[in-house]
Amino acid sequence: MSTYPAARVRFAPSPTGYLHVGGARTALFNWLYVRRFGGQFLLRVEDTDKARSTDESTRAIFEGLEWLGLGWDEPVVYQGANLERHRADVKSLLDAGLAYRDFTPQATLEERRADAQTHGEIYKYKREWAELPLHEEQQRLERGDPYVVRFRVPDESGITEWDDLVHERIAFPNKDVDDFVILRSDRTPIYNLAVVSDDIAMGVTLVMRGDDHISNTPKQIMLYNALGKPLPRFAHLPMIHGLDGKKLSKRHGATAVGDYQHEGLLPQAMLNFLALLGWSPGGDREVMTLAEMIDLFSPEGLQRKAAIFDPKKLEWMNGQHMSMMSLTDLEPVVTRAIVASGLATAEALGAKHDWYLRLVDLLRVRARVVDDIVRQAAPYLARDIDYDPDAVAKQWKDREASRNLLTATRDSLMAASSWEAATLEAELRGVAEKLGVGGGKLFQPLRVALTGLTVSPGIFDVLVMQGRELALYRIEQAINYLSVAADR
Ligand code: GLU
Repeated sequence: MSTYPAARVRFAPSPTGYLHVGGARTALFNWLYVRRFGGQFLLRVEDTDKARSTDESTRAIFEGLEWLGLGWDEPVVYQGANLERHRADVKSLLDAGLAYRDFTPQATLEERRADAQTHGEIYKYKREWAELPLHEEQQRLERGDPYVVRFRVPDESGITEWDDLVHERIAFPNKDVDDFVILRSDRTPIYNLAVVSDDIAMGVTLVMRGDDHISNTPKQIMLYNALGKPLPRFAHLPMIHGLDGKKLSKRHGATAVGDYQHEGLLPQAMLNFLALLGWSPGGDREVMTLAEMIDLFSPEGLQRKAAIFDPKKLEWMNGQHMSMMSLTDLEPVVTRAIVASGLATAEALGAKHDWYLRLVDLLRVRARVVDDIVRQAAPYLARDIDYDPDAVAKQWKDREASRNLLTATRDSLMAASSWEAATLEAELRGVAEKLGVGGGKLFQPLRVALTGLTVSPGIFDVLVMQGRELALYRIEQAINYLSVAADR
């Protein structure tokens, strides 16, 4: 594996919504780079669009990154606070003749745009202000005519190119780049200027961002050159698509990191899932702890093709991490969810701590999300349960036969000499044999009686965890339920 130099990288979200999974993925790759190869991970809030930026969105970005554990190494930079520097950079370009003022009146601009539209074209600026005589410019300035500032794209026959860490060489002919606006008529900077000015000021040496920005990069490179500053390296990460191959949107499910946090997803599972959106550690390795991701991360594994966001895979990943993590780490997460559901209080769970830990350990095997554990825990924590209608329809279809099986089971369990798995198994196998049915025939209706569900740990584990009193009570209740139903 090649080695890469330490770098100053940044994540630069615009606070105009929530923290999108795509943004979190970009943040993660920047963060991993720095943890693996050294450097600093910086956070810049690009809040120059005052109309669309909100404090709430800024908070959601912080909260999402904190939840994922993607801490930044220096104080947050707010782009909006750097307005004076942006203007000063524009001024220096103007002074050097590398930018110029465009006084096209607003009305003319609108006319041209409308005209282009009726001809099915995009309005293209034709450089008509590039050589405005100095005295005329002076006159207009004195009159207070509004203007925008345009960057003078150099060397029409040249090309602007860079070695992208993901795409290798990318080249744009300069003639395809318009003299682009860098300062609006209200004296606010345009994105490309603000980003370059800030990246220079922050000493950023590697820009890693979504590949929707590839077309901005030649403009930004031109600005670096015009400002006489060394170029950072660039890495453009693939877009994220839904299973249908279309750009990820709300149609595909939750796209806000906060939604997953509030659903009780484990942050380490989210990180692992995000890491695989555009990166592969090689081989078919998928499940990794954060420490392993840091160890394995390399730009060599970054992919060009769009990544596919599969919510089912995220759930699966969560299940993997739930089985993998230490019980000590999982227990508080589960406890919070159980307490929030009203199933038990923290004190009650604390009072039977060892038993409770064994329960969590038993249930996590069949769970993909924490809520699965909560749902499966109900039969052990609550006195009475509801029967899942599907379980009833499937396993208690013949009510009378089910009642008979459960009655025989109850009688045998009541006579059991101890409440240990081996004894209980011997008892139940004896019942099955006596009735001439297979184990499954007996265990499935019993599972519904004990848990109300079709999915549970092995039936002997369920019996042991519930204990004699509760298990026998459940079977009795089921027999009653089936008697009423069968007599109906
Ligand atoms: N604010 C830009 C965005 O959210 C950042 C682009 C960049 O990283 O240069 O897309």
